Amino acid sequence: MEKIVSLCKRRGFIFQSSEIYGGLNGLWDYGPLGVELKRNVKNHWWRVMVHERDDVVGMDGSILMNRAVWKASGHEETFSDPMVDCRTCKARLRADQLTDKKGALQCPNCGSKDLTEARPFNLMFKTYVGATEDESSITYLRPETAQSIFVQFKNILEVSRKKLPFGIAQIGKAFRNEINPRNFTFRSREFEQMELEYFCRPEQGMELLEYWKDERLKFYENIGILRDKLHVRTVPDDERAFYSKGTYDIEYDFPFGRQELEGVAYRTDYDLSQHQKASGKSLEYFDEETKQRFIPHVVEPSAGVDRTVLALICEAYSEDQAADEKGKMETRLVLRFHPRVAPVKCGVFPLLKNNPQLVAKAKEIVDLLRPHMTVFYDESGAIGRRYRRQDEIGTPFGITVDFETLGEKDPSLRDTVTLRERDSMKQERVKISDLIHLLSVRIA
Ligand code: ATP
Repeated sequence: MEKIVSLCKRRGFIFQSSEIYGGLNGLWDYGPLGVELKRNVKNHWWRVMVHERDDVVGMDGSILMNRAVWKASGHEETFSDPMVDCRTCKARLRADQLTDKKGALQCPNCGSKDLTEARPFNLMFKTYVGATEDESSITYLRPETAQSIFVQFKNILEVSRKKLPFGIAQIGKAFRNEINPRNFTFRSREFEQMELEYFCRPEQGMELLEYWKDERLKFYENIGILRDKLHVRTVPDDERAFYSKGTYDIEYDFPFGRQELEGVAYRTDYDLSQHQKASGKSLEYFDEETKQRFIPHVVEPSAGVDRTVLALICEAYSEDQAADEKGKMETRLVLRFHPRVAPVKCGVFPLLKNNPQLVAKAKEIVDLLRPHMTVFYDESGAIGRRYRRQDEIGTPFGITVDFETLGEKDPSLRDTVTLRERDSMKQERVKISDLIHLLSVRIA
């Protein structure tokens, strides 16, 4: 994990937030490459969950909402972790993280048994709306995106004219004042979620829970996570929310252990019922065929963008042996990202930077490819070094412009380039005019 954190900083994937002031625990910034990787994950999610489907529409809700939302959803009352203080070292700990030594609970930091009783600690960040800081102006930064979907259910149903089953999708920031942020970005205090609320008839709930679990597994495989590293945990009755009839956690084998990437939960009609009761506004669905009026049930696949990005980096990280310029074997650090999510798709290199014709041709190729994909132009250093720099950030393809491209040795090779593939390091000679098609197919 240390190697991964250090690579992330060195190459500009992820930095500590407010680093020059010593940072702030549980908060992270994505640098130039991290933001591209994150965008690719979100775009792919949106593509398969919204654009490629007839039965899902999107929305983008506000982060601050009327406090009444959080009262009705139960977050104000119960969105908390039980917490214990160590009287010896003053650490504040989650009750489930205490060390159990022969039945006696101990502080994991100092080993003391002098601990306070567990008390609930609400994870929502409180804030005030408007100029007065009093009880009437309190609200919270949303701890999940789902609630804005529930409270906009009626508006979206009306404008989209969808029939059950149908879904509403949203990607956006969520905030939780986690007691113990840890494992790099895995447990942060500010993060992004990709959530779908898929509304259905009560009798479809269990079947759709299975359906969405399978769809979501396919999603992770399609962005390059090995099926062997993904696990489905059936959340047992005593851990599940009381209103849920079934919940799966999709987990990934992180270097720090097997941990949740996403929850897929059948939440019955709990959320819409709560908001209908609290707001006094009908959130019912009218079935024109059967003339029935009822509150739809919902299945929710809820994924974390940051956890997915971290899983992708962990999955991609590898070291192998490759020959350097002089044929000597050296350790090669390579991020084996699926081309679909790789931040940069293609590196373009003129063989020599002091040859104007090679440079001009390489820049022409950059201009040709740029409307179709992210491209990185690099002319400095030996060609092997340039390949390595791209391997390290996971660029799947490299194009080298050499003297054959100029047709100097063999006119039949004019306007062809070397296309190198990152993982196999195999090189093929291809026509410049074929590049867009060849690469687009491989990164789609
Ligand atoms: P955990 O048990 O790990 O705290 P959770 O079960 O509370 O997670 P959910 O409320 O189901 O999480 O949220 C859905 C998804 O949002 C999670 O699967 C995860 O990907 C993401 N998520 C939740 N909390 C965090 C966090 N603190 N940092 C990063 N991502 C998070």
